[in-house]
Amino acid sequence: MKMLFINRRGCLRVLLAVAVLSATSILAQSRQPKYIFLMIGDGMGVNQVEIAHRYRKLTSQDGSGLIFESFPVHSKATTNPVDAGKITDSAASGTALACGFKTENGIIGMNPDFKPGRSVAFEAHDGGRAVAVISSVGINHATPAAFYAHQKKRNMYDAIGSEIARCNFEFLAGEPLLGDNQKQTRAIIKAAGYNLLSGRDALADSDKHAKVMFEQNIPYQSELRTDSIRLADLVRAGLKKVGDSPTGFFMMVEGGKIDWACHANDFGAMIGETLEFDDAVRVVYDFYRDHPEETLIVVTADHETGDLKYDSSLRSDQKFTAQIANIRLTSAALADKIKDWSTKGDHAEIAARALAASGVNDATDNELRAITEIVEVVRSKDKKDRRAKELKRMYGNRNAIVIACHRFAAERCGASFNSVGHTSAMVPVMAVGPGSAMFAADTDNAEIGRKLIQMVN
Ligand SMILES: [Zn+2]
Repeated sequence: MKMLFINRRGCLRVLLAVAVLSATSILAQSRQPKYIFLMIGDGMGVNQVEIAHRYRKLTSQDGSGLIFESFPVHSKATTNPVDAGKITDSAASGTALACGFKTENGIIGMNPDFKPGRSVAFEAHDGGRAVAVISSVGINHATPAAFYAHQKKRNMYDAIGSEIARCNFEFLAGEPLLGDNQKQTRAIIKAAGYNLLSGRDALADSDKHAKVMFEQNIPYQSELRTDSIRLADLVRAGLKKVGDSPTGFFMMVEGGKIDWACHANDFGAMIGETLEFDDAVRVVYDFYRDHPEETLIVVTADHETGDLKYDSSLRSDQKFTAQIANIRLTSAALADKIKDWSTKGDHAEIAARALAASGVNDATDNELRAITEIVEVVRSKDKKDRRAKELKRMYGNRNAIVIACHRFAAERCGASFNSVGHTSAMVPVMAVGPGSAMFAADTDNAEIGRKLIQMVN
């Protein structure tokens, strides 16, 4: 301590040098990244990844597969809610990833006693980082909500949406707000200083505003048009907004429709949505390549959906890709078609058309008979689907004919869906960049949340 008295200027210089040195060594030890991406494929289990990876490898020009399959760190995570015997929903697992603790299904951002948590997004923001929350489903759907909201029930969409007004995050983007009072929710968010945007031009200019909420429908991959906005576009705009923040940023990106496709056992849409998610990760990976010393990317899922089994040895590459190319309609589109066809046509005719549209052009007699029987049952009941519109859009018309046809299509690719719900299967974790070694061992989703929180503090 003597040096403190030597010479004021010299001493300061020494102290400064010591401070800089220790800061650098701490940084080197913890390898604290300045830019953090958490990419969540909703419902994206190990087999969803393997199947989409094979498909991308076989169909891409350079033979490369999913970008995140090339990341150096690979592990798996458990996803159960606070009750370990149960299977998680997106609210409990989103909360675990965002806040670092377990909660009950249906709860957003709070523990089972309804004590609100502080998500990694808030922690990052408190520490001066910019924050972006992006999803290919509704901005106030469970997964993105877990990063900014605190509600007892995931379907309290208006209350969840209103919390956007209080989060002050720089950039939120996804499909339009869900809820009964969207108009009022938007007014609350606007009053808090947010610019409410939609449309391609507005997206391109979104970095001109301090705080942005961007809403736009994001079509399924097979239904994209040239002017459609995709998840990757939202990520690009988000990066334009927060990418040059001098204090770094935290960005959460959810590929939300992988889950919807798997709920519907829609094999083609499952692959398409995983590829869309991969394209979003590619945008992020380009950013990583420009800032490799400072950027961490963690890719994971909140749970597996559909109990998808897969054996790649069952089908040749050629059969695998040819079969997938045959799939023409998403489950929601096919359900609508079946409704049309049902006004005329006999059972067997409808069955044959549904099979062909699902990619099953070579149906066996047994398959045709099975689908014909389901058509018969479904038509005889003639039940009206009374679910809310948003539920139908989310999970497709959970039509028994559609599910059975899609299951036959999946089998032709060496795969099988064995559930229309979530499972407790461990999900993949892939990471690259400083800090990625922290995710090298198998872990639990809440542990991922805790580690991320540690990193932004
Ligand atoms: Zn989910």
